[in-house]
Amino acid sequence: MAQEANPFESLQEQIDDAAAYLDVRDDVIERLKNPERVLETNLAVEMDDGDVELFRAYRSQFNGDRGPYKGGIRYHPNVSRDEVKALSGWMVYKCAVVDIPYGGGKGGIVIDPKAYSESELERITRSFAKELRPLIGESRDIPAPDVNTGQREMNWIKDTYETLENTTAPGVITGKALSNGGSEGRVEATGRSTMLTAREAFDYLGRDIEGATVAVQGYGNAGSVTAKLIEDLGATVVAVSDSSGGVYDPDGLDTRAVKGFKNETGTVSDYEGTEAITNEELLTLDVDLLVPAALENAIDGELAHDVNADVVVEAANGPLTPDADDVLTEREVHVFPDILANAGGVTVSYFEWVQNRQRFYWTEQRVNDELERVIVDAFEELVDAYETHDLPNFRTAAYVVAIRRVVDSYDSAGNWP
Ligand code: NAD
Repeated sequence: MAQEANPFESLQEQIDDAAAYLDVRDDVIERLKNPERVLETNLAVEMDDGDVELFRAYRSQFNGDRGPYKGGIRYHPNVSRDEVKALSGWMVYKCAVVDIPYGGGKGGIVIDPKAYSESELERITRSFAKELRPLIGESRDIPAPDVNTGQREMNWIKDTYETLENTTAPGVITGKALSNGGSEGRVEATGRSTMLTAREAFDYLGRDIEGATVAVQGYGNAGSVTAKLIEDLGATVVAVSDSSGGVYDPDGLDTRAVKGFKNETGTVSDYEGTEAITNEELLTLDVDLLVPAALENAIDGELAHDVNADVVVEAANGPLTPDADDVLTEREVHVFPDILANAGGVTVSYFEWVQNRQRFYWTEQRVNDELERVIVDAFEELVDAYETHDLPNFRTAAYVVAIRRVVDSYDSAGNWP
Protein backbone atom coordinates (compact mmCIF):
# COMPACT_ATOMS: atom_id res chain seq x y z
CA MET A 1 0.00 0.00 0.00
CA ALA A 2 1.23 3.50 -0.81
CA GLN A 3 2.65 5.52 2.08
CA GLU A 4 0.04 7.83 3.60
CA ALA A 5 0.37 11.48 2.56
CA ASN A 6 1.86 13.85 5.13
CA PRO A 7 -0.89 16.49 5.63
CA PHE A 8 1.64 19.28 6.16
CA GLU A 9 3.28 18.49 2.81
CA SER A 10 -0.21 18.40 1.25
CA LEU A 11 -0.91 21.90 2.58
CA GLN A 12 2.39 23.19 1.20
CA GLU A 13 1.64 21.66 -2.19
CA GLN A 14 -1.80 23.26 -2.26
CA ILE A 15 -0.23 26.67 -1.54
CA ASP A 16 2.38 26.16 -4.29
CA ASP A 17 -0.35 25.15 -6.77
CA ALA A 18 -2.20 28.42 -6.17
CA ALA A 19 0.96 30.57 -5.95
CA ALA A 20 1.69 29.64 -9.57
CA TYR A 21 -1.29 31.82 -10.53
CA LEU A 22 -0.40 34.74 -8.26
CA ASP A 23 2.10 37.50 -8.69
CA VAL A 24 3.63 37.12 -5.21
CA ARG A 25 7.35 36.92 -4.36
CA ASP A 26 8.72 33.43 -3.56
CA ASP A 27 10.04 34.52 -0.14
CA VAL A 28 6.57 35.75 0.83
CA ILE A 29 5.03 32.45 -0.28
CA GLU A 30 7.68 30.51 1.68
CA ARG A 31 6.65 32.35 4.83
CA LEU A 32 3.00 31.47 4.16
CA LYS A 33 3.90 27.77 3.99
CA ASN A 34 5.32 27.52 7.52
CA PRO A 35 3.94 28.12 11.02
CA GLU A 36 5.09 31.06 13.12
CA ARG A 37 5.44 28.87 16.23
CA VAL A 38 4.51 25.43 17.59
CA LEU A 39 4.13 24.51 21.25
CA GLU A 40 4.97 20.91 22.06
CA THR A 41 4.29 19.86 25.62
CA ASN A 42 3.89 16.73 27.74
CA LEU A 43 0.99 16.73 30.17
CA ALA A 44 1.60 14.70 33.35
CA VAL A 45 -1.87 13.86 34.63
CA GLU A 46 -3.03 11.77 37.55
CA MET A 47 -5.34 8.91 36.56
CA ASP A 48 -8.27 7.62 38.65
CA ASP A 49 -6.06 4.81 40.05
CA GLY A 50 -3.42 7.28 41.29
CA ASP A 51 -0.84 6.59 38.54
CA VAL A 52 0.50 9.53 36.53
CA GLU A 53 0.30 9.27 32.73
CA LEU A 54 2.06 11.45 30.17
CA PHE A 55 0.22 12.88 27.14
CA ARG A 56 1.94 14.63 24.23
CA ALA A 57 0.10 17.80 23.16
CA TYR A 58 0.61 20.54 20.57
CA ARG A 59 -0.59 24.01 19.62
CA SER A 60 0.48 25.50 16.30
CA GLN A 61 0.07 29.21 15.59
CA PHE A 62 0.46 29.32 11.85
CA ASN A 63 -0.16 32.88 10.79
CA GLY A 64 -1.62 35.95 12.52
CA ASP A 65 -1.50 38.53 9.72
CA ARG A 66 -5.29 38.92 9.56
CA GLY A 67 -6.13 38.63 13.26
CA PRO A 68 -5.85 36.38 16.31
CA TYR A 69 -4.94 32.73 15.70
CA LYS A 70 -8.07 30.59 15.53
CA GLY A 71 -8.60 26.86 15.35
CA GLY A 72 -9.79 23.73 17.06
CA ILE A 73 -8.36 21.21 19.48
CA ARG A 74 -8.38 17.55 18.45
CA TYR A 75 -8.15 14.46 20.67
CA HIS A 76 -7.00 11.48 18.61
CA PRO A 77 -4.28 8.81 18.77
CA ASN A 78 -2.95 9.93 15.35
CA VAL A 79 -2.43 13.58 16.31
CA SER A 80 1.12 14.56 15.34
CA ARG A 81 3.19 17.70 15.04
CA ASP A 82 2.82 17.74 11.24
CA GLU A 83 -0.93 17.10 11.39
CA VAL A 84 -1.41 20.02 13.79
CA LYS A 85 0.78 22.25 11.61
CA ALA A 86 -1.28 21.34 8.54
CA LEU A 87 -4.61 21.88 10.27
CA SER A 88 -3.43 25.28 11.58
CA GLY A 89 -2.41 26.31 8.06
CA TRP A 90 -5.74 25.25 6.60
CA MET A 91 -7.36 27.50 9.23
CA VAL A 92 -5.44 30.54 7.93
CA TYR A 93 -6.73 30.06 4.40
CA LYS A 94 -10.21 29.04 5.56
CA CYS A 95 -10.63 32.27 7.56
CA ALA A 96 -9.28 34.24 4.61
CA VAL A 97 -11.55 32.59 2.01
CA VAL A 98 -14.66 33.53 4.01
CA ASP A 99 -13.03 36.88 4.90
CA ILE A 100 -13.32 36.77 8.68
CA PRO A 101 -10.66 38.64 10.66
CA TYR A 102 -8.66 35.73 12.04
CA GLY A 103 -5.37 34.01 11.46
CA GLY A 104 -4.99 30.27 11.90
CA GLY A 105 -4.05 27.93 14.71
CA LYS A 106 -4.73 24.35 15.78
CA GLY A 107 -4.04 22.09 18.73
CA GLY A 108 -4.28 18.49 19.70
CA ILE A 109 -3.55 15.81 22.26
CA VAL A 110 -2.29 12.36 21.31
CA ILE A 111 -4.98 10.33 23.05
CA ASP A 112 -7.82 7.89 22.48
CA PRO A 113 -10.41 9.67 24.61
CA LYS A 114 -12.68 6.60 24.67
CA ALA A 115 -10.13 4.88 26.95
CA TYR A 116 -10.46 7.47 29.75
CA SER A 117 -13.08 8.38 32.33
CA GLU A 118 -14.78 11.76 32.35
CA SER A 119 -12.82 12.90 35.41
CA GLU A 120 -9.54 11.87 33.75
CA LEU A 121 -10.51 13.75 30.58
CA GLU A 122 -11.30 16.81 32.66
CA ARG A 123 -7.87 16.75 34.35
CA ILE A 124 -6.14 16.16 30.98
CA THR A 125 -8.05 19.06 29.40
CA ARG A 126 -7.42 21.45 32.30
CA SER A 127 -3.75 20.50 32.28
CA PHE A 128 -3.58 21.36 28.56
CA ALA A 129 -5.42 24.64 29.23
CA LYS A 130 -2.81 25.52 31.86
CA GLU A 131 -0.02 24.94 29.31
CA LEU A 132 -1.92 26.96 26.68
CA ARG A 133 -2.58 29.90 28.99
CA PRO A 134 0.43 32.04 27.98
CA LEU A 135 -0.40 31.54 24.28
CA ILE A 136 -4.17 31.99 24.17
CA GLY A 137 -6.48 34.89 24.97
CA GLU A 138 -9.49 36.72 23.55
CA SER A 139 -7.28 38.84 21.29
CA ARG A 140 -4.42 36.38 20.88
CA ASP A 141 -5.42 32.81 20.06
CA ILE A 142 -8.92 31.38 20.35
CA PRO A 143 -9.31 27.58 20.34
CA ALA A 144 -12.50 25.67 19.43
CA PRO A 145 -13.72 22.06 19.13
CA ASP A 146 -12.48 19.56 16.58
CA VAL A 147 -12.55 15.76 16.35
CA ASN A 148 -13.50 14.20 19.71
CA THR A 149 -13.87 17.50 21.55
CA GLY A 150 -17.03 19.53 22.07
CA GLN A 151 -18.85 21.87 24.42
CA ARG A 152 -17.74 19.97 27.52
CA GLU A 153 -14.01 20.43 26.80
CA MET A 154 -14.51 24.06 25.72
CA ASN A 155 -16.28 24.81 29.01
CA TRP A 156 -13.37 23.27 30.98
CA ILE A 157 -10.79 25.28 29.04
CA LYS A 158 -12.69 28.54 29.51
CA ASP A 159 -13.09 27.88 33.23
CA THR A 160 -9.40 27.00 33.70
CA TYR A 161 -8.25 30.09 31.80
CA GLU A 162 -10.64 32.44 33.63
CA THR A 163 -9.69 31.00 37.01
CA LEU A 164 -5.95 31.34 36.37
CA GLU A 165 -6.34 34.84 34.93
CA ASN A 166 -8.83 35.89 37.65
CA THR A 167 -11.16 37.38 35.07
CA THR A 168 -14.13 36.64 32.84
CA ALA A 169 -13.11 36.07 29.22
CA PRO A 170 -15.74 33.99 27.41
CA GLY A 171 -14.20 34.94 24.05
CA VAL A 172 -11.02 32.99 24.86
CA ILE A 173 -12.62 29.90 23.33
CA THR A 174 -15.60 29.14 21.09
CA GLY A 175 -17.92 26.17 20.69
CA LYS A 176 -19.02 26.48 24.31
CA ALA A 177 -22.41 25.39 25.65
CA LEU A 178 -25.18 27.98 25.37
CA SER A 179 -25.32 28.15 29.17
CA ASN A 180 -21.63 29.06 29.20
CA GLY A 181 -21.46 31.80 26.57
CA GLY A 182 -21.93 29.69 23.45
CA SER A 183 -23.79 30.79 20.32
CA GLU A 184 -27.04 29.60 18.86
CA GLY A 185 -26.37 27.68 15.67
CA ARG A 186 -22.74 26.74 16.47
CA VAL A 187 -23.31 22.98 16.78
CA GLU A 188 -24.85 22.81 13.29
CA ALA A 189 -22.65 25.45 11.67
CA THR A 190 -20.06 23.21 10.00
CA GLY A 191 -22.64 20.91 8.44
CA ARG A 192 -24.73 23.93 7.46
CA SER A 193 -21.86 25.42 5.44
CA THR A 194 -21.26 22.06 3.77
CA MET A 195 -24.94 21.91 2.82
CA LEU A 196 -24.87 25.52 1.56
CA THR A 197 -21.72 24.83 -0.49
CA ALA A 198 -23.35 21.74 -2.02
CA ARG A 199 -26.51 23.72 -2.79
CA GLU A 200 -24.57 26.54 -4.46
CA ALA A 201 -22.31 24.06 -6.30
CA PHE A 202 -25.24 22.14 -7.77
CA ASP A 203 -26.88 25.40 -8.78
CA TYR A 204 -23.65 26.63 -10.43
CA LEU A 205 -23.19 23.34 -12.27
CA GLY A 206 -26.81 23.43 -13.47
CA ARG A 207 -27.76 20.31 -11.52
CA ASP A 208 -30.70 19.64 -9.24
CA ILE A 209 -29.92 19.00 -5.56
CA GLU A 210 -33.50 17.83 -5.09
CA GLY A 211 -33.49 14.13 -5.79
CA ALA A 212 -29.67 13.94 -5.91
CA THR A 213 -28.13 10.85 -4.30
CA VAL A 214 -25.60 11.48 -1.54
CA ALA A 215 -23.02 9.43 0.41
CA VAL A 216 -21.47 10.77 3.62
CA GLN A 217 -18.28 9.33 5.13
CA GLY A 218 -18.04 10.04 8.89
CA TYR A 219 -21.15 10.55 10.99
CA GLY A 220 -19.99 12.85 13.76
CA ASN A 221 -20.79 16.53 14.10
CA ALA A 222 -19.88 17.59 10.55
CA GLY A 223 -21.20 14.51 8.70
CA SER A 224 -24.48 13.96 10.50
CA VAL A 225 -25.56 17.61 10.31
CA THR A 226 -24.63 17.81 6.61
CA ALA A 227 -26.65 14.66 5.93
CA LYS A 228 -29.69 15.99 7.79
CA LEU A 229 -29.68 19.44 6.16
CA ILE A 230 -29.07 18.03 2.69
CA GLU A 231 -31.95 15.60 3.17
CA ASP A 232 -34.06 18.66 4.08
CA LEU A 233 -33.19 20.10 0.62
CA GLY A 234 -34.82 17.03 -0.93
CA ALA A 235 -31.67 15.01 -1.63
CA THR A 236 -31.58 11.26 -0.92
CA VAL A 237 -28.82 10.20 1.47
CA VAL A 238 -28.16 6.60 0.44
CA ALA A 239 -25.09 5.79 2.55
CA VAL A 240 -23.33 6.96 5.71
CA SER A 241 -20.45 5.54 7.72
CA ASP A 242 -18.28 5.94 10.79
CA SER A 243 -15.04 4.35 11.96
CA SER A 244 -16.85 1.00 12.48
CA GLY A 245 -18.18 0.79 8.90
CA GLY A 246 -21.10 1.98 6.81
CA VAL A 247 -24.75 1.40 5.96
CA TYR A 248 -26.41 1.64 2.55
CA ASP A 249 -30.03 1.91 1.46
CA PRO A 250 -30.65 2.81 -2.20
CA ASP A 251 -34.12 4.12 -1.26
CA GLY A 252 -32.62 6.64 1.16
CA LEU A 253 -31.86 6.71 4.88
CA ASP A 254 -33.76 8.64 7.52
CA THR A 255 -30.71 10.64 8.59
CA ARG A 256 -32.21 11.76 11.93
CA ALA A 257 -33.17 8.20 12.85
CA VAL A 258 -29.64 6.98 11.97
CA LYS A 259 -28.21 9.70 14.22
CA GLY A 260 -30.51 8.62 17.05
CA PHE A 261 -29.35 5.02 16.53
CA LYS A 262 -25.69 6.11 16.65
CA ASN A 263 -26.31 8.10 19.83
CA GLU A 264 -27.79 4.96 21.44
CA THR A 265 -25.36 2.32 20.18
CA GLY A 266 -22.21 4.34 19.44
CA THR A 267 -22.19 3.44 15.72
CA VAL A 268 -24.27 3.59 12.52
CA SER A 269 -23.47 -0.07 11.76
CA ASP A 270 -26.38 -2.52 11.89
CA TYR A 271 -29.00 0.19 11.47
CA GLU A 272 -32.07 -1.83 10.53
CA GLY A 273 -33.18 -2.27 6.93
CA THR A 274 -29.76 -1.36 5.50
CA GLU A 275 -26.95 -3.18 3.78
CA ALA A 276 -23.51 -3.12 5.44
CA ILE A 277 -20.76 -1.51 3.35
CA THR A 278 -17.12 -0.70 3.99
CA ASN A 279 -15.80 2.84 3.98
CA GLU A 280 -14.01 2.15 0.71
CA GLU A 281 -17.27 0.95 -0.88
CA LEU A 282 -19.00 4.11 0.34
CA LEU A 283 -16.32 6.36 -1.16
CA THR A 284 -16.69 4.67 -4.55
CA LEU A 285 -20.50 4.52 -4.69
CA ASP A 286 -22.16 5.78 -7.85
CA VAL A 287 -23.81 8.87 -6.35
CA ASP A 288 -24.33 12.47 -7.42
CA LEU A 289 -22.60 13.89 -4.35
CA LEU A 290 -19.92 12.50 -2.05
CA VAL A 291 -19.23 14.20 1.29
CA PRO A 292 -16.07 13.04 3.08
CA ALA A 293 -16.64 14.14 6.70
CA ALA A 294 -14.18 12.02 8.70
CA LEU A 295 -10.41 12.63 8.65
CA GLU A 296 -7.48 13.50 6.36
CA ASN A 297 -6.36 11.30 3.47
CA ALA A 298 -9.66 9.42 3.08
CA ILE A 299 -9.14 9.42 -0.72
CA ASP A 300 -5.66 8.93 -2.17
CA GLY A 301 -4.51 8.93 -5.79
CA GLU A 302 -5.32 5.24 -6.21
CA LEU A 303 -8.82 5.34 -4.78
CA ALA A 304 -9.58 8.54 -6.72
CA HIS A 305 -9.66 6.49 -9.93
CA ASP A 306 -12.60 4.54 -8.48
CA VAL A 307 -14.61 7.50 -7.18
CA ASN A 308 -17.95 7.43 -9.00
CA ALA A 309 -19.49 10.62 -7.62
CA ASP A 310 -19.88 13.62 -9.95
CA VAL A 311 -19.38 16.20 -7.20
CA VAL A 312 -17.33 16.04 -3.99
CA VAL A 313 -17.90 18.56 -1.19
CA GLU A 314 -15.35 18.28 1.62
CA ALA A 315 -16.75 18.54 5.15
CA ALA A 316 -13.56 17.10 6.67
CA ASN A 317 -10.23 18.90 6.60
CA GLY A 318 -7.83 17.51 4.03
CA PRO A 319 -9.79 14.37 3.05
CA LEU A 320 -8.17 14.28 -0.42
CA THR A 321 -4.44 13.89 -0.97
CA PRO A 322 -2.87 16.13 -3.65
CA ASP A 323 -2.58 13.01 -5.87
CA ALA A 324 -6.32 12.42 -5.49
CA ASP A 325 -6.93 16.04 -6.41
CA ASP A 326 -4.90 15.63 -9.60
CA VAL A 327 -6.79 12.48 -10.59
CA LEU A 328 -10.22 13.99 -9.89
CA THR A 329 -9.33 17.21 -11.75
CA GLU A 330 -8.23 15.11 -14.72
CA ARG A 331 -11.45 13.07 -14.54
CA GLU A 332 -13.52 16.30 -14.31
CA VAL A 333 -15.03 15.40 -10.96
CA HIS A 334 -15.82 18.73 -9.33
CA VAL A 335 -14.33 19.07 -5.84
CA PHE A 336 -15.47 21.92 -3.60
CA PRO A 337 -12.76 22.35 -0.98
CA ASP A 338 -12.74 22.05 2.80
CA ILE A 339 -11.57 25.62 3.35
CA LEU A 340 -14.91 26.82 2.01
CA ALA A 341 -17.27 23.90 2.64
CA ASN A 342 -16.56 23.44 6.36
CA ALA A 343 -15.87 27.12 7.10
CA GLY A 344 -19.26 27.43 8.79
CA GLY A 345 -17.71 26.15 12.02
CA VAL A 346 -15.17 28.93 12.27
CA THR A 347 -17.60 31.52 10.91
CA VAL A 348 -20.11 30.87 13.68
CA SER A 349 -17.21 30.65 16.14
CA TYR A 350 -16.42 34.18 14.98
CA PHE A 351 -20.06 35.18 15.60
CA GLU A 352 -19.83 33.57 19.06
CA TRP A 353 -16.68 35.59 19.82
CA VAL A 354 -18.31 38.82 18.59
CA GLN A 355 -21.30 38.12 20.87
CA ASN A 356 -19.01 37.29 23.81
CA ARG A 357 -17.06 40.50 23.40
CA GLN A 358 -20.21 42.59 23.09
CA ARG A 359 -22.06 40.62 25.81
CA PHE A 360 -25.00 40.75 23.40
CA TYR A 361 -26.51 37.54 22.04
CA TRP A 362 -28.16 36.81 18.69
CA THR A 363 -31.12 34.62 17.73
CA GLU A 364 -30.52 31.36 15.88
CA GLN A 365 -32.24 32.86 12.83
CA ARG A 366 -29.78 35.77 12.77
CA VAL A 367 -26.80 33.40 13.10
CA ASN A 368 -28.04 31.19 10.26
CA ASP A 369 -28.85 34.17 8.01
CA GLU A 370 -25.43 35.77 8.56
CA LEU A 371 -23.72 32.42 7.94
CA GLU A 372 -25.62 31.91 4.70
CA ARG A 373 -24.56 35.37 3.51
CA VAL A 374 -20.89 34.66 4.30
CA ILE A 375 -20.83 31.27 2.54
CA VAL A 376 -22.79 32.40 -0.53
CA ASP A 377 -20.56 35.50 -0.93
CA ALA A 378 -17.41 33.38 -0.55
CA PHE A 379 -18.74 30.85 -3.07
CA GLU A 380 -19.31 33.62 -5.61
CA GLU A 381 -15.79 34.99 -5.12
CA LEU A 382 -14.33 31.53 -5.53
CA VAL A 383 -16.24 30.96 -8.78
CA ASP A 384 -15.21 34.41 -9.97
CA ALA A 385 -11.52 33.58 -9.40
CA TYR A 386 -11.99 30.15 -11.04
CA GLU A 387 -13.44 31.70 -14.19
CA THR A 388 -11.30 34.87 -14.35
CA HIS A 389 -7.96 33.05 -13.99
CA ASP A 390 -9.12 29.91 -15.84
CA LEU A 391 -8.00 27.78 -12.88
CA PRO A 392 -7.81 23.97 -12.98
CA ASN A 393 -10.12 23.36 -10.02
CA PHE A 394 -12.05 25.00 -7.21
CA ARG A 395 -9.44 24.24 -4.56
CA THR A 396 -6.84 26.28 -6.39
CA ALA A 397 -9.45 29.02 -6.80
CA ALA A 398 -10.09 29.07 -3.05
CA TYR A 399 -6.35 29.33 -2.30
CA VAL A 400 -5.90 32.08 -4.89
CA VAL A 401 -8.57 34.17 -3.14
CA ALA A 402 -7.27 33.34 0.35
CA ILE A 403 -3.53 33.80 -0.26
CA ARG A 404 -4.21 37.13 -1.97
CA ARG A 405 -6.00 38.35 1.18
CA VAL A 406 -3.25 37.20 3.56
CA VAL A 407 -0.55 38.75 1.37
CA ASP A 408 -2.46 42.05 1.20
CA SER A 409 -2.54 42.21 5.03
CA TYR A 410 1.13 41.34 5.30
CA ASP A 411 2.16 43.83 2.61
CA SER A 412 0.17 46.67 4.09
CA ALA A 413 1.55 46.04 7.61
CA GLY A 414 5.17 45.57 6.51
CA ASN A 415 7.78 43.17 7.87
CA TRP A 416 9.13 43.83 11.37
CA PRO A 417 11.76 43.83 12.81
P1 NAD B 1 -16.47 14.00 15.20
O1 NAD B 1 -15.54 13.40 16.19
O2 NAD B 1 -17.77 14.56 15.66
O3 NAD B 1 -16.82 12.90 14.06
C1 NAD B 1 -15.88 12.21 13.32
C2 NAD B 1 -16.58 11.04 12.66
O4 NAD B 1 -15.70 10.40 11.73
C3 NAD B 1 -17.04 9.95 13.63
O5 NAD B 1 -18.33 9.49 13.24
C4 NAD B 1 -16.02 8.84 13.41
O6 NAD B 1 -16.50 7.55 13.73
C5 NAD B 1 -15.76 9.00 11.93
N1 NAD B 1 -14.53 8.37 11.47
C6 NAD B 1 -13.29 8.41 12.01
N2 NAD B 1 -12.44 7.67 11.25
C7 NAD B 1 -13.16 7.21 10.21
C8 NAD B 1 -12.86 6.40 9.09
N3 NAD B 1 -11.62 5.93 8.88
N4 NAD B 1 -13.84 6.13 8.22
C9 NAD B 1 -15.11 6.59 8.42
N5 NAD B 1 -15.45 7.35 9.46
C10 NAD B 1 -14.49 7.65 10.34
O7 NAD B 1 -15.64 15.08 14.40
P2 NAD B 1 -16.16 16.30 13.52
O8 NAD B 1 -16.11 17.50 14.37
O9 NAD B 1 -17.40 15.91 12.81
O10 NAD B 1 -14.95 16.42 12.48
C11 NAD B 1 -14.91 15.67 11.26
C12 NAD B 1 -14.06 16.42 10.28
O11 NAD B 1 -14.62 17.73 10.10
C13 NAD B 1 -12.61 16.64 10.70
O12 NAD B 1 -11.78 16.62 9.56
C14 NAD B 1 -12.64 18.03 11.30
O13 NAD B 1 -11.37 18.66 11.29
C15 NAD B 1 -13.62 18.70 10.35
N6 NAD B 1 -14.21 19.93 10.87
C16 NAD B 1 -14.98 19.94 11.98
C17 NAD B 1 -15.51 21.15 12.43
C18 NAD B 1 -16.41 21.24 13.62
O14 NAD B 1 -16.89 22.35 13.91
N7 NAD B 1 -16.70 20.16 14.31
C19 NAD B 1 -15.24 22.33 11.73
C20 NAD B 1 -14.47 22.28 10.57
C21 NAD B 1 -13.96 21.06 10.16
